[in-house]
Amino acid sequence: MSIALPHILQLEPYKLGEQPPECAQAVKLNQNESPYPPSPKVAEALRRIGEEALRRYPDPECRELRAALAERLGAEPGQLFVGNGSSEIISLIAKAFLGSGGVLAMPDPSFGLYLTAAAACGGRAVPVPTRDDFTVDTDALLAVGAKVIALVNPNAPTGLPLPVSEIDRLAAAHPGLLVVDEAYIDYAEPGTSALPLLDRRPNLLILRTFSKSYALCGARVGYAVGGRPLIEALERARDIYNVNAVSRALALAALSDEAYLRETTAAVRATRDRCAGELRRLGCGVLPSQTNFLLVQPPVRRDQRDASASAASLAASLRAAGIYVRRFADHPRLSDRLRVSIGTDSEMDAFLSHVEQWLANRRD
Ligand SMILES: *Cc1c(COP(=O)(O)O)cnc(C)c1O
Repeated sequence: MSIALPHILQLEPYKLGEQPPECAQAVKLNQNESPYPPSPKVAEALRRIGEEALRRYPDPECRELRAALAERLGAEPGQLFVGNGSSEIISLIAKAFLGSGGVLAMPDPSFGLYLTAAAACGGRAVPVPTRDDFTVDTDALLAVGAKVIALVNPNAPTGLPLPVSEIDRLAAAHPGLLVVDEAYIDYAEPGTSALPLLDRRPNLLILRTFSKSYALCGARVGYAVGGRPLIEALERARDIYNVNAVSRALALAALSDEAYLRETTAAVRATRDRCAGELRRLGCGVLPSQTNFLLVQPPVRRDQRDASASAASLAASLRAAGIYVRRFADHPRLSDRLRVSIGTDSEMDAFLSHVEQWLANRRD
């Protein structure tokens, strides 16, 4: 008999992309990290952090970063919550809004961490299949009658956006909390964000992160923006010092360099669109992505019965060449595809030429 709680023992650990050994000269395209370093202002801020900042407890209310975020977004500091990565905020949402027995509805496929977070607090996530073309079915989400609906927009791992008008309709019709996770919003076309809805939708909570577009995965800073009562609930549920002194200084520095963000995200978008074109030319199926990754379906050979064998073979071949991509082998609708994060142009050239070679020599 274990002394841990049964629902914790039954948790399926969230599956992450493989981390190559540190010594390896890997091309790492499996965790949607930025291929570019953080802004030079971040390196500067890192050098400036003194021992004093480490000796003292940081401001428990994280006021400086909240104020800077509020100003950037045209919101009030009281509408902002900062977390130890948006993954912490996802856990806090489960803790504060879902609880034991609570039901969270989410599209499937989408970001699996919502499932884990719901189960970890004794709640339950109900995956609602997307349509055949992977677009989100908002009516089906509503029909679950869940306490919380969680969307990723643009969605992962499809890369597809849901129009703001649909999010608005969903927020109006859903009596509970609507979470819109905008982890990839800086790679999307203007007009994709649900931010303009905040004024009239008090049940809307938007999540963002410094991990992806600001290249700060290692610092662990994410934030939520929404109505004050929602933010207040997260504040009560969190640890006192949930964001450390070093990381908040780095996030503040990254936020101050808007030009750098624009430049690096534009570069990623250009590389993404070029790669999507090249892959289609090679016969791959590629969903039109508004993120920093592509969902790629390698062509299936005429005599092949199992479409997922192609994806498995290509992933293994890439892996042997030190190119890491993400495969969702256990998901029936994704097992024939690979999720490929957008790297630098030269990393993507290495990836593309390997795909081309594999297609020419395939024996799978
Ligand atoms: C990467 C990612 C996150 C996690 O971001 P962190 O801030 O690093 O915890 C959250 N949501 C989605 C959809 C992501 O892809």
